Amino acid sequence: MDLRPGADSCYKCTSCDTSCPVAEVDDSFPGPKFQGPEQWRLKRKEDTEIDDSITGCSNCMRCDGACPSDVPLSQMHNTARGEYVENQQPKLSREYIRNRILANYGTLAGLGSKVPRLTNAIMGNSLVQNVNEKLLGITAERDFPEFADRTFRSWWKQRGGPMVESEDKRIAYFHGDYANYNTVEVAKALVRVYEAFGYEILVPDQRCSGTPMFANGMLDDARRSAAVNVESLGDAIERGYDVVASCTSCSMALRQEYPELFDFEGTETVAANTYDALEYLLINENVIDPLSEVDADDHDIPDFAYHAPCHSRNQGLDRQAVELFRHLDGVDVADVGDSCSGISGTYGWKEEKYEYSMEIGEEMFEHMEHAEGQTGMTECPTCSMQMEHGTGYEIDHPLQVLEAALVDTDVEV
Ligand code: SF4
Ligand code: SF4
Repeated sequence: MDLRPGADSCYKCTSCDTSCPVAEVDDSFPGPKFQGPEQWRLKRKEDTEIDDSITGCSNCMRCDGACPSDVPLSQMHNTARGEYVENQQPKLSREYIRNRILANYGTLAGLGSKVPRLTNAIMGNSLVQNVNEKLLGITAERDFPEFADRTFRSWWKQRGGPMVESEDKRIAYFHGDYANYNTVEVAKALVRVYEAFGYEILVPDQRCSGTPMFANGMLDDARRSAAVNVESLGDAIERGYDVVASCTSCSMALRQEYPELFDFEGTETVAANTYDALEYLLINENVIDPLSEVDADDHDIPDFAYHAPCHSRNQGLDRQAVELFRHLDGVDVADVGDSCSGISGTYGWKEEKYEYSMEIGEEMFEHMEHAEGQTGMTECPTCSMQMEHGTGYEIDHPLQVLEAALVDTDVEV
């Protein structure tokens, strides 16, 4: 893909550089202006190689939102990183092998979740974690996320699929890997909340959204996943379903990265019909009135410290949870500010990036600790990991809070 013309829109204001959390803590990272427009200008000479610092970008996409001139920064970064990995990164290097493993988490999770207790015991062993760090460069500082006893898809199948039928209220649920293998309670909360509002739910065939693959320059892997997703979700859209995702990085990938990087038939249709789960409910339903009837104390709903993930901010969704839960009586939801959590999917799992990741997250940890609530809330599963890791708090998804407030209560929705 030739992005050189987009580089001409850059007028070197440096807003992108000042918004970059990685450039702030890592002196060796030259920042988004270099990775984007400057690198693509250099590529006017066809034989110019991609600078290896492109692998230092965490793909938080904050620079995209900071550019006043609509320079397609993340598209430039993703494309350059893909070219670097394909043409310049040695395929037997420890970095490539480690990044390929992290990028394809869903493949390993599919295997590990067949024997979840055994996998959890092995991956939770400190000796295994230290070997992982020495051999592969996956930090031993973090606890490996536990697999649920049963995947969401297996629960859904045994349940017999949807409990609600509807001609006009239909969603196709894109759960992604993490809600399928790890935080199954988030996926179940989506099902229960949407069914309470009268939606028929389809759980279509799907692969990883591609987010960790983009971040590691594994564009061929991402292309294979995207091809399955676009075909499957495109079919659902034709049958009258809108696509809803519970992870804001998944909705970001389907809405922005797919059209920027791939040209499968139906990519634009999928992008135009995909929504974040809370966003879609707020557009289509009156959630506020039933929520206003609830007293949080009656349902043991605690106060929260809420973090908006960078990828939700990029979709303009950063205030929706805080605004919504203002209507829930007896709950304080504090917005802990606009800083990045620092983990950015796989970035904070890399041994050499772990300290940077924690330094970036420091502002969020401090704000969480000053908030009234001792429970965190966020839409992103890896931000959730970082929030828990930095503070020790339990973390909920907004859908779980809605479930606690509205489902199986006497409140009419
Ligand atoms: S995507 Fe994030 S880490 Fe990468 S250059 Fe942009 S702001 Fe920096
Ligand atoms: S914010 Fe946009 S216009 Fe400003 S330096 Fe970055 S890419 Fe160029």
